[in-house]
Amino acid sequence: MAEDMAKTVIIEETGGPEVLKVVERPVGAPGPGEIRIRHKACGLNFIDTYQRSGLYPMELPHALGREASGIVEAVGEGVTHLKPGDRAAYAGSPAGAYAEARVMPASEVCPLPEAISFEEGAAMMLKGMTVQYLFHRTTPLKAGDTVLFHAAAGGVGLIACQWAKSEGITLIGTAGTDEKCALALEHGAAHCINYKTEDWVAKVRELTGGVGVDVVMDAVGKDTFEGSLDCLRPLGMMISFGNASGAVEPFSVNLLAAKGSLKITRPTLFTHTSDHETCQAMARMLFDKVESGAVKIRIDQRFPLDQVADAHRALEARQTTGQTILTV
Ligand code: NDP
Repeated sequence: MAEDMAKTVIIEETGGPEVLKVVERPVGAPGPGEIRIRHKACGLNFIDTYQRSGLYPMELPHALGREASGIVEAVGEGVTHLKPGDRAAYAGSPAGAYAEARVMPASEVCPLPEAISFEEGAAMMLKGMTVQYLFHRTTPLKAGDTVLFHAAAGGVGLIACQWAKSEGITLIGTAGTDEKCALALEHGAAHCINYKTEDWVAKVRELTGGVGVDVVMDAVGKDTFEGSLDCLRPLGMMISFGNASGAVEPFSVNLLAAKGSLKITRPTLFTHTSDHETCQAMARMLFDKVESGAVKIRIDQRFPLDQVADAHRALEARQTTGQTILTV
């Protein structure tokens, strides 16, 4: 196949949004186990800001972005679950999804059902499969359990609110403004606390009759970590899965004993999706949730690919709600 050029966002050094560069570069043909995909839209995720800033180091220069949807243009040897012309979407590795087209490993790319638009596909794979593993693959959760979920009006957050409701799980959300709290409630949170203006630890205790929640899902990180532990019931589970406010400081494991024999895990989506069959099964469960209407993908921000730096600024300034996509 003749190589053609595609607009691609790269970084040559780590830093603020200004290090994001839009360049033209050749796409190439897929090798064994790879596909070539032409994107219709790309997803914006907080992990992209960690890779850009250097919090999650990568070899440089590197393309950025972990999520997109589009049409498969070519498949390499050994790829059997996709063929040219297929609609597809992914949350995948390596970074490089902020592009008009790319070549990438096929394993984490999933056939996209007709009922789901390309924009929804680009917006939901990384955040939706994250919610899938948080609720189904991390700790046993059942109807009637209570979960505290920080940043409940964000990208992962609004999916989590709806997912919890669809499973009969009581989700107590937090968010940084009253408007964001209202949005989380609209999407299925049982309660939402403005953690900028309220004593959220006391409020969680009050809402759970002094007992505490079964599970905390905390991707705000530094600012909420210790308070989150104080919201758990004895033997409760802390899922620390992100660092929107900065990385969690090192701590003594004895803290977990002192606060009631707590359990803690620090998972990442890509551990779960690195197995092809597992990844495809996770995606199918997500598609079912969206096709059934249990989870609606709410795209509140759209930025042209060229304006990716503005998209990063908005995400880091806490100006976004729900999903954000880059249009190509
Ligand atoms: P969001 O859309 O949720 O945006 C992040 C939100 O975090 C903000 O809107 C803001 O909401 C809140 N926040 C709190 N403190 C800060 C701060 N100091 N700076 C910026 N934001 C802050 O992003 P995503 O949906 O993309 O991701 C949510 C989190 O989940 C991220 O931490 C991300 O890294 C993590 N994640 C982890 C995965 C994993 O597998 N480990 C996979 C996917 C996401 P508010 O104003 O309401 O406080």
